[in-house]
Amino acid sequence: MTEKLYYADQYLQEFAATVTEVRPLAGSLWGVVLDRTAFYPEGGGQPCDKGWLDGIPVSAVYEDNGAIVHVVAERPVGQTVHGRLDWERRFDHMQQHSGEHIVSGVFGDLFGTENVGFHLGADRVYIDVTLTELTDEQTAAAEAAANAAVFANLPVKSEIVAAGELAKYHLRKRPAKEYANIRLVTVEGIDCCPCGSTHVAASGEIGLIKIRGWERKAGATRVDFVCGGRALADYRLTSAVARELSTRLSVPVEEVPAAFARQASKGESLNRLLQSARQELNRHLAASLYDEADELAGLRLVVAVVPDATPGELSDLARQVLARGRAVVLLATGSAEANKSHLLFACTPGAAADMGGLLKKALQATGGQGGGNAHWAQGGGSWCDSLAAVLAAARKDVSA
Ligand SMILES: [Zn+2]
Repeated sequence: MTEKLYYADQYLQEFAATVTEVRPLAGSLWGVVLDRTAFYPEGGGQPCDKGWLDGIPVSAVYEDNGAIVHVVAERPVGQTVHGRLDWERRFDHMQQHSGEHIVSGVFGDLFGTENVGFHLGADRVYIDVTLTELTDEQTAAAEAAANAAVFANLPVKSEIVAAGELAKYHLRKRPAKEYANIRLVTVEGIDCCPCGSTHVAASGEIGLIKIRGWERKAGATRVDFVCGGRALADYRLTSAVARELSTRLSVPVEEVPAAFARQASKGESLNRLLQSARQELNRHLAASLYDEADELAGLRLVVAVVPDATPGELSDLARQVLARGRAVVLLATGSAEANKSHLLFACTPGAAADMGGLLKKALQATGGQGGGNAHWAQGGGSWCDSLAAVLAAARKDVSA
């Protein structure tokens, strides 16, 4: 059994201990067991501590039958070691985890929900609560109550209670298993539940609690939140984004959404205008391509490389040409910058050779993919600097 120093003092960052066992682990790693440790092993939704034993990095910590195993890549030399926690990591876990007690307690108190899930990861903290819907008003009320509990700087206490005594406590949830003694963690007036993790001593240390969003999750609602240092990082990020948008749109931050909506609607009308201008341009281009094309056995042979057109614009152009009369249309477009090329072969149905077969052959030269039928085929791939030559070869096949 390893003595758990983090229960006596959750703020202990350094300690001396005796090595009681060193076990070989997979991947040339070692598991160091000590007589006492301040390293919290993974458990109760809280990730394990990291840190150093005699300067050797501890990459993971887990509990195995009462022994706390510190995973290291190098075997410590002496019988005694000096342990030091990565305190930034541990304190972050203490802030998020203690915040979780408050958010869960507040949700239970305001909406009668139960907490049915908790996750504390490197980039996300959430709880799952028994709610099917959460309104903005409810979120705001829960956030306000949670922060009021922080501002009140309430004591966060832990105590070991005999199972028979539990009835005296107003517990948010029952212990997961039957134990003779249970460790209860209480945030005065907010939350009381069995918990074996590490917490701050008073709620003020949690810092700001911000609910970032929620989503439906299998009959429950997943509530995402951040506390303390993570809330500060989140505020820095969102305020930097807001400032940037405000500068670019030349409006105060609070007017950004309205200004953005105006820009988006302006963009949509410009797009519509651009689209109709392109269609108009295609009508003229189709007319001149058709009028100037060579004629072969009553068919116009229209061959053109159209720079920087989209596949949709190429299709539109082909349809416009075919609408003018019997024709074979061999079109290509592409952009060296975007490393893309696109081919479209079409003809008046039944008028000429198989367009699908012709395209397949052309795509072998450009290294792309595509397909179609006898009178309409298209495809593309990466940029090809000899699109004109590819079309000329296809034209030769059609003429033959
Ligand atoms: Zn806890």
